[in-house]
Amino acid sequence: MAESARQPQEPQNPEEMYRYLLDRVTNMETRNLELREQLRQIESDKRYIETQKIRYEREVRKLKSEIEQLRSPPLVIGTVTDVIDGGRVIVRSSAGPRFMVRSSMCIDPEKLKPGVRCTLNQQSLAVIDILPESYDAQIYGMEVIETPEENYDDIGGLDPQINEIREAVELPLKRPELFEKIGIEPPRGVLLHGPPGTGKTLLARAVAHETNAYFLRVVGSELVQKYIGEGARLVRELFDLAKKRSPTIIFIDEIDAVGASRTEATTSGDREVQRTLMQLLAGMDGFEQRGDVKIIGATNRIDILDRALLRPGRFDRIIQIPLPDSEGRLAILKVHSKKMSLDENVDLQEISFLTEGKNGSDLKAICMEAGMFAIRSEHDAITRQDFLDAIEKIGLDFDSQKFRNNFGAMFA
Ligand code: ATP
Repeated sequence: MAESARQPQEPQNPEEMYRYLLDRVTNMETRNLELREQLRQIESDKRYIETQKIRYEREVRKLKSEIEQLRSPPLVIGTVTDVIDGGRVIVRSSAGPRFMVRSSMCIDPEKLKPGVRCTLNQQSLAVIDILPESYDAQIYGMEVIETPEENYDDIGGLDPQINEIREAVELPLKRPELFEKIGIEPPRGVLLHGPPGTGKTLLARAVAHETNAYFLRVVGSELVQKYIGEGARLVRELFDLAKKRSPTIIFIDEIDAVGASRTEATTSGDREVQRTLMQLLAGMDGFEQRGDVKIIGATNRIDILDRALLRPGRFDRIIQIPLPDSEGRLAILKVHSKKMSLDENVDLQEISFLTEGKNGSDLKAICMEAGMFAIRSEHDAITRQDFLDAIEKIGLDFDSQKFRNNFGAMFA
C-alpha cells in the first residue's frame, strides 16, 4: 500500500497519457531554458576570468622586469668624443679617462654623435643608451625667469647706463631692421663693471623685462666644475638652451670666476677653468650677431679679466656702473621709499648727503631699517630720526673700526 503511494500513478487512458507527456515536455523545456541561462552565465564568467588572468600575467611580467631593472648594476655616465666606423666609439667616462668601446645595436647611429651623453656598461664600458640633452637649469643652479618683474623705473641714478644698455641690447632685440638698414652689426654682449651692490643685476633684469626676454642668470663660479670637460659642457648647454628659448638674455654674474686672465696654468683645476673660458669664448663667437640671444656679463674685477673676453665682437660694450653720487643716491632713495609713508620732516636730499660712499644696496637697507625703527617705536610714518638711526646702524655694521680690523686680520 505504502509502496503504491510513492509511485507516480501510471496513466490509465490515452488522454491521461497525453497530458502526462505534455507535462513532461513543458518541464523539460523549462529545465532546458534554465540550463542555457546557466551556461551563458558560466561562459561570461569564464571570459571575465580569462581577461583577469591576462591582466595579472601582464602585471607579473611588468613587476618582474621592474625587479630585474632595480637589481641591475648601475651604468656609468660618459660622453661620446668620437665615432669610428663599425660600431666603435671613443667615449670619455665621467671619471676622466677615454676608452674605445663598442656600442649597442639598438642605438640609432644618427643619434651617436660626438658630444652626446650616454650610459656605459660598468665592465665592458659598451655604450648602452643615449641620454637626452639635459637642459635642466635647476640642476646647475642657474636662475631661470620667464620675464623678470623689475623695470627701468626701479633703477635710480643710472640714466646714462640705462641708455647705453638699451641701445646695445634692447634695440637689436626689438628693432633688428634698424641695424640691417644701416648695415652695421649690433653689439653681441655687454659687460657691466663696478663696485658691488651698485645695480648691475638689477639693470640686466630690467632689460630682460623690457624686451620680454627669457632671463638666464648664472654665476661664474658655478660654471667651474669638478670633472674635466664638465664646465665646458655646461657652457655649451647654457648657450643651446638660450638659443632654444630665444629671445634670451644670458646674465653671467661674477664673470671673473671663469674669465680671469689666462696665465701659465699649473694645476689641473686652473686648466679646467681655462677650458671653460675657451668654451665661453667659442659660444660667444658662435652666435649670429643679430640673433635673439644677448649676453650681459657683470664683474667687480674688470682688471683681472682675460683680454680675449674684452675684445670687440665679444663684450663690445663695456659699461661702468659707478658708486652713486649725491644725485644718484637721491634717485635710489626715491625708488626705495616710493611705497613708504614718510613723515613731513624727512628730507631725502639730506639723507643722500649723509650717505656719501654708500651703494644702492646699502641705501635699500637704510630705507628698510628706517622702516623697522618706525615700527619699533610705533610711528605711523617714518621720521627723520628713524633714517638717522638707520644710517648709523648700517654704517656701524659695515664701516666700524671693529669690522675693518677683523677684515684686515682675516685677509692679512
Ligand atoms: P654684485 O656685484 O655684488 O652682484 P650688483 O651690482 O649686481 O652687486 P644688485 O644685485 O643689482 O647689485 O643690487 C642689489 C640690490 O640693491 C638690488 O636688489 C636693488 O634693490 C638695490 N640697488 C642697487 N643699485 C640700485 C639702483 N641704482 N637703483 C635702485 N636700487 C638699487
